[in-house]
Amino acid sequence: MNALLQNQLMTELIRPQDIAAIVRKKGMKACLDGVANYILKDYLRWDEFDKSKRIAKYVEDGVMELMPIADKTHYAFKYVNCHPHNPAKGLSTVIAFGALVDVATGMPMAISELTLTTAFRTAATSALAAKYLARKNSRTMALIGNGSQAEFQALAFHYLLGIEEIHLYDKDPKASEKLAGNLAHTGMTFVIASDVASAVKGVDIITTVTAEYAKAHIITPDMIEPGMHINAVGGDSPGKTELHPEILSMGTVFVEFEEQTRIEGELQNVAEDFPVVHLWEVFGKTKPGRSDNNQVTLFDSVGFALEDYSAMLFMRDAAKELGLVQSISLVPELADPKDLFSYLGVVPAIPVLMDRISAEIR
Ligand code: NAD
Repeated sequence: MNALLQNQLMTELIRPQDIAAIVRKKGMKACLDGVANYILKDYLRWDEFDKSKRIAKYVEDGVMELMPIADKTHYAFKYVNCHPHNPAKGLSTVIAFGALVDVATGMPMAISELTLTTAFRTAATSALAAKYLARKNSRTMALIGNGSQAEFQALAFHYLLGIEEIHLYDKDPKASEKLAGNLAHTGMTFVIASDVASAVKGVDIITTVTAEYAKAHIITPDMIEPGMHINAVGGDSPGKTELHPEILSMGTVFVEFEEQTRIEGELQNVAEDFPVVHLWEVFGKTKPGRSDNNQVTLFDSVGFALEDYSAMLFMRDAAKELGLVQSISLVPELADPKDLFSYLGVVPAIPVLMDRISAEIR
């Protein structure tokens, strides 16, 4: 077998420790910037993707989902869950991994951790949307829900938008203290609030990133002030939302992929024909984003496969650039591509067979 083919048969492996090494070498800002740029570039070629909503298996305590997407070169998918009771069992609420496949041959080119990468892509998408939708001079944000995703959200808004002051609220005060401690080195100001209403009062942007299987009303209409941008991240599954439905009628709702958001996002609580604008149209400037400083804008984030594909590619490219990629054997290496059986090594060697045949002839 020639070396080129042998190489093609190997699959690149990107592990959580590789993501940590990429971040330590490149820095958090460069990684969030990089992921956001890859996502934007892919949103700008929206029509080139074969898109579908995710395939979900709902169980009593959570959901498991497959998220496929393809263009002419790559087929990619992510597996992701959401099990809000996991932290009590010592596990993260959201766990993910995925693969990148060569469309021309179907060969798995890379397998990647996507738990950390999901946090990067969700935060980068939120900040990217806010760049187009929030008021230009936004400096303050309320961050409701201070679990695993929250630091990534805070940093994306700091580095990509210039948010300097964040009001934190979590029903678990230890989560807010953890966040303020983890990001103390950034120089941002963190104010831990005693309730949601005081956290959101007077801010430019509200981010909700809570995990609870309920149609919760964490943000109510009385909390919304003219010009606010709402980045609703935690409501991403049927029966799991964060906003009072009347909030959607207070402004314009922006979505990633309408077909999916209508089932999973805040949109599930309003009429089926409730008007929405796609992010790709705003990014491509075919539809307006914010019209004036008093408009309320709402990004109904649920997470779309395109963002996972873009983020996985960024991390894979960064791992390659930094010499971090390891290859694993996932596909059997065959001398004859039609002879899969021989790979098992259970067929007797040829000389033994010949001896047996000639013995039978005699
Ligand atoms: P997590 O369990 O680590 O953190 C969630 C936090 O929310 C916890 O600290 C919890 O105490 C807090 N919380 C729950 N209910 C609350 C309430 N009523 N008020 C205030 N705080 C509350 O989970 P995570 O990994 O940070 O994910 C958060 C949510 O984001 C999940 O629902 C997940 O499904 C969703 N998510 C969405 C996307 C997307 O693309 N839209 C991507 C990743 C995760």
